[in-house]
Amino acid sequence: MDPIPSPERESLILLLAPAGRDAKLVDELFHGARLQSQVCLTVEELCRDIERGAGAVFVAEEALDSLAIESLAAVLNKQGSWSDLPVVVLTVAGEPTEAAQERLTRLQSLGDLTLLERPLRTDTIVSAARAALRARAKQYQVRRRDAELQLVTDNVPVLISYIDRDQVYRRVNHTYFEWFGVRPEQVVGSTIQSTVGEPHYTQAQPYITRVLQGERVHFESQLRDKRRELRDVSVSYAPDSSSDGSVRGFVALVQDITDRKKAERALMESERQFRSLADTFPNLAWMAYADGHVFWYNQRWYDYTGSAPETLEGWGWRSVLDPEELPKVMERWNDSIRTGDLFEMVFPLRGANSMFRLFLTRIVPLRDSSGAVTRWFGTSTDIDEQKRAEEALRQANRDLEEFAYVATHDLQEPLRMVNIYSQLLLKRVGADPGSQLREYADYVRTGVKRMETLIRDLLDYSRITHGVGPPLPFRADLEAALRQALASVEARVRENQAEVTSAPLPAVAGDEAQLAHVFQNLLSNALKYRKPGETPRIHICAERQDAHWVVSVQDNGIGFDQDQAERIFGLFKRLHRHEEYPGTGLGLAICKHIVERHRGRVWAHSQAGVGSTFFVSLPVAPHE
Ligand code: ADP
Repeated sequence: MDPIPSPERESLILLLAPAGRDAKLVDELFHGARLQSQVCLTVEELCRDIERGAGAVFVAEEALDSLAIESLAAVLNKQGSWSDLPVVVLTVAGEPTEAAQERLTRLQSLGDLTLLERPLRTDTIVSAARAALRARAKQYQVRRRDAELQLVTDNVPVLISYIDRDQVYRRVNHTYFEWFGVRPEQVVGSTIQSTVGEPHYTQAQPYITRVLQGERVHFESQLRDKRRELRDVSVSYAPDSSSDGSVRGFVALVQDITDRKKAERALMESERQFRSLADTFPNLAWMAYADGHVFWYNQRWYDYTGSAPETLEGWGWRSVLDPEELPKVMERWNDSIRTGDLFEMVFPLRGANSMFRLFLTRIVPLRDSSGAVTRWFGTSTDIDEQKRAEEALRQANRDLEEFAYVATHDLQEPLRMVNIYSQLLLKRVGADPGSQLREYADYVRTGVKRMETLIRDLLDYSRITHGVGPPLPFRADLEAALRQALASVEARVRENQAEVTSAPLPAVAGDEAQLAHVFQNLLSNALKYRKPGETPRIHICAERQDAHWVVSVQDNGIGFDQDQAERIFGLFKRLHRHEEYPGTGLGLAICKHIVERHRGRVWAHSQAGVGSTFFVSLPVAPHE
């Protein structure tokens, strides 16, 4: 498109008169009327100046011989289609001669021509000049708007074109060049069919027919660009209707949506894969919008509930819940929808056979990059079997503990009787050490003692393991627990001249009395399994390891094979014969139980003939 000249040339009047005096006069006249003018001395000069831009041309008729008219016409014809430069010719006064008549006929070819007949009044010339400049200013205005529009359309990454009703391009933007490598001026004037190629045209044709009937249309299609690559495009046609309703043509907008389509296709594919995966899930799975409306269930849902998709869509899942549980579930679910928090709850769901089974339902929010919930993904896992097994196991444990407790308790009574009567019997037998009856009575007494210890340990064990028990206190002072334990073994320490030393002990999270029991068991063992003829040495200390304290009780006793270190914590597990080292094999099992209740661990390191160390790790007390 032709460039727009500078603003000062837009209102410049070019003057050409052979008699310099005439030109000077008119020039002064314009000057007086505050109009800009410039005198050209020759036709060549005038033509050159016209090319640089002008508002109007004033020429004296006598300056125009046929050659001059020809050069002037040539310059004016070169102007763009928008440009129609006003030319005012000051004619020769009087009746025109034949030559003048012919010249006037030729002048008509100049376009926007005005003839002013001499003699002229000053104001006639000035008003003719003003009228010419006004007309010219409008042309420049149209040209400027057109240039602005072109600039905008050229810089939009969309194909924009105006097509007339004969399906010929009237205007296209620069994007055509970027996509197809053809210049807009090559496209303008050609038909859609010849430009876009047959397959695309066949597809677009029904839409072209509709837009030419005055309808706005939209469709998606594919085009090949200059690199022969296929582009997905979104096409919109908007009709250009005149006031009587007839359609003059239409505007076509073609947008490249290849990336969007690619992303959509990838999304569809991943969604397809996800759904086929989810359909093979053993769990029930589903997805909901942010407001909780369920839009998808996996196949297992339909199979389990026996319900049709249309009855479950949205909030239809409520029909498979126990009506008694429903309000609670709804309250929790609405809470999650409001807060965006994860939902986790156990409740029964009705199966196709009308039977309820227990499910663990977890619903996690899926969020976008701003953190807003876009979807909910829910799974319901059948835990019916597991719950039943857990309940059965719990019941069995309760029964067993109850039995052990009652049995040990009830055993004490007859044992007391045996004890009393065996003592009476001994009295009757008398003090004769050689008597066989006395020997038998001694056996009975030893047996009774063993039985008593066994019952006492069993009672301890069942008391500790009986039921879940109250929650553990927050803090137990291990110094105090050790003191308590030492007091109960004091007699044996003295009797064996044992050396017991300890480093300062911390506080841990737990129950002091129960931990004193652990210390007491470990100290008793350290004293019991001492090496004959050697002073028993026992040392207790503690070491911090992350969130735990590891307490150790070390002795220099007979020790055992490290292979046995795990076994000894089992119920009734013993490594030594009762005749040498009496015991029930319950002490360490009790320790293990107490420590595990404290969420701790107990283990041992030992070497036969050297000694053993028992370790107990316990969680540190809160705020320590
Ligand atoms: P018991 O009543 O037999 O002592 P425990 O459960 O306390 O029962 O201990 C189980 C077994 O572990 C013991 O019989 C003994 O063989 C071994 N044992 C426990 N403590 C020690 C120790 N300090 N030194 C050597 N052996 C030990």
